[in-house]
Amino acid sequence: MLDKVVIANRGEIALRILRACRELGIKTVAVHSEADRTQKHVLLADESVCIGPPPSAESYLNMPAIISAAEVTDAMAIHPGYGFLSENADFAERVENSGFTFIGPRSETIRLMGDKVSAIRSMRSAGVPCVPGSDGPLGEDIEENVRIARDLGYPVIIKASGGGGGRGMRVVHTEATLMNAIMVTRSEAMAAFSNETVYMEKFLGHPRHVEFQVLADKDGRAIHLGERDCSMQRRHQKVIEEAPAPGITEEQRNTIGNRCVRACEEIGYLGAGTFEFLYQDGEFYFIEMNTRVQVEHPVTEMITGIDIVREQIRLAAGESLQWRQEDVEFRGHAVECRIAAEDPTNFMPCPGPIHQWHSPGGPGVRLDTHIYSGYVVPPFYDSMIGKIITHGHNRASAIARMQQALSEMVIEGIKTNIPLHQEIFSHSAFKTGGTDIHYLEKRLGL
Ligand code: ADP
Repeated sequence: MLDKVVIANRGEIALRILRACRELGIKTVAVHSEADRTQKHVLLADESVCIGPPPSAESYLNMPAIISAAEVTDAMAIHPGYGFLSENADFAERVENSGFTFIGPRSETIRLMGDKVSAIRSMRSAGVPCVPGSDGPLGEDIEENVRIARDLGYPVIIKASGGGGGRGMRVVHTEATLMNAIMVTRSEAMAAFSNETVYMEKFLGHPRHVEFQVLADKDGRAIHLGERDCSMQRRHQKVIEEAPAPGITEEQRNTIGNRCVRACEEIGYLGAGTFEFLYQDGEFYFIEMNTRVQVEHPVTEMITGIDIVREQIRLAAGESLQWRQEDVEFRGHAVECRIAAEDPTNFMPCPGPIHQWHSPGGPGVRLDTHIYSGYVVPPFYDSMIGKIITHGHNRASAIARMQQALSEMVIEGIKTNIPLHQEIFSHSAFKTGGTDIHYLEKRLGL
């Protein structure tokens, strides 16, 4: 097992990783920016190293500083969490080359999945259903591109192979605007991702976002932990997630889950990962793979009883999967609300000091947060300050517990999006379940 792990992240996920390490008897090193000296995980870690000034580019994205922190503390591994360097293949490679264990898949897998054209290719060959599309990069041949779009039928979407975070995409409704859209997306992709490769997909009008969690070990064995529905989004950012996804049958879960497992085995995947799909009219369409732990992993933990972060660390340490697929059981329903320090009416970030903090509790309530009374939310990073997760024997009970938990939560000093969550839970469409990815923005009149 690993003896000491560097936690190369901040906020709730850094604390989540620290807790998993403690359970496994692993010592922790918190690397943090100058703005994060009073973060809960920094105070709790066995050791801490300040790696730079507040801006992420000079601290949490500073590869040499993080690797030298691992060197000076004699750590064995680096956990990147999510965001920051978690899906940076160059970082993973530098970590490996410096003799440390990167807690995630191998750098070449991150590179393969980070390039969407190559990711889709390998998924297709493993039998994972993908969105009908250009099946590779778009060339310069105008007639050929027009033909591809005609065959798919408008609208189509032009996407950057190196894109991420909802950037580098353009929807095209008519042939007249196709070539210009390809050109503009190409040059934007070059500027933003230093990769001008673009591809084309059929644009789906009303999909849901349904994703599958997988775990894989170094011996090439993999299992899936079922799916999550993350359709409640604003600007491609997930706001509420749940597991299982409403209306997905056991047969669909087994079919798609098993294809994801097969894909993991074919690409030699290692650790925890997520296959993201758009789901429309009863069909699944792969869009991308996330090669890291996700914000919404707790809803899966709640219904399976499997600690995904703990497993991720064990698997990176070279241990074998402890479960066979038939051992994975799904119990009840779980919902997660991302709590953000932002104005619920205009979504502006709202950093500042927290004067009062009272957390919710009771059966089936879990709170993953680094916040405490007196903590000051810094203005430099993502506005998420924690997650409330509730579990119940069915969806209605998980939602009822969430409504109760939201009403108990007291955060004074800053504005949060709790009123937005409360409003969403009062919508009859949410109560029914199965809303598409455009629902929230439409409902908010955005
Ligand atoms: P990113 O890596 O930037 O998140 P994705 O490929 O995951 O890019 O797509 C992000 C979002 O864009 C999806 O969640 C969906 O809302 C929308 N999208 C992407 N591809 C399509 C498509 N073919 N049809 C409709 N919407 C799409």
